[in-house]
Amino acid sequence: MTRIIIPDKNDPHPWSVFVAESAIHRDPLVISDVVRILPHGGEVSGTVYTNPDTDEDWLATGEGFVPLTTVTRVHPGNIHSATIPIGTEIIDRWWGLPIGYIPDDLVDIPAGWCINDGKEYRLRQVALPALLDMLEAAASEGVEIRVLSSWRPGDYQRNLYMGAIERMGRNQRASAPPGHSEHQLGTVVDLCDVEEKEVLTAAFSDTPQGRWLAEHAGEFGFFRSYTDENTARTGYISEPWHWRFWGR
Ligand SMILES: [Zn+2]
Repeated sequence: MTRIIIPDKNDPHPWSVFVAESAIHRDPLVISDVVRILPHGGEVSGTVYTNPDTDEDWLATGEGFVPLTTVTRVHPGNIHSATIPIGTEIIDRWWGLPIGYIPDDLVDIPAGWCINDGKEYRLRQVALPALLDMLEAAASEGVEIRVLSSWRPGDYQRNLYMGAIERMGRNQRASAPPGHSEHQLGTVVDLCDVEEKEVLTAAFSDTPQGRWLAEHAGEFGFFRSYTDENTARTGYISEPWHWRFWGR
């Protein structure tokens, strides 16, 4: 059947079901053949398979195959009652945060630096001065950069994700599942140009803002998470607008 991707084959941590009526399929190519339905909030164990024909990820269990888009697995290092130390969070396609995790040190980003769309813009306290220094440095060179998205709670991400699946299908690689979005960390911003010409597009990297960030963001502790080079490893498309704070 398939190429096997097993990041941690022997890891015993179970995956938890976050979509109601997630099913175990006998054969991932025969969707109608359902072994049984998993309960929302239930747990299931297995190893990860990616079907090379469809690019869909599955969890292979003893009973059959579960769509990876319906389950999440919390990394033991991500279980903290308050906040996870910045730079130690493990968050990718295979490991996530508890969906209810909310950093307890979120602060507001001053509205003047954000796209004015009525949203709340928040970031962890330690990341904010670095962000403001970066935006001010760019502005002082005539490059106006705005924040388009910042902290997002896990349940908001669930809605974004389910919408993306509806529009683009189950193997879409644009939106992360709830618990697997770096935005939930509170250390990540999506940035854009002040006229909002290249919002969430690959062409952002060719704008003055995209070019300035590529050259200078690292000086302020911000780095791109998703590049053309790491798409195969991360499972996400290249995102020149998405910057994560790792510390200065
Ligand atoms: Zn983003």
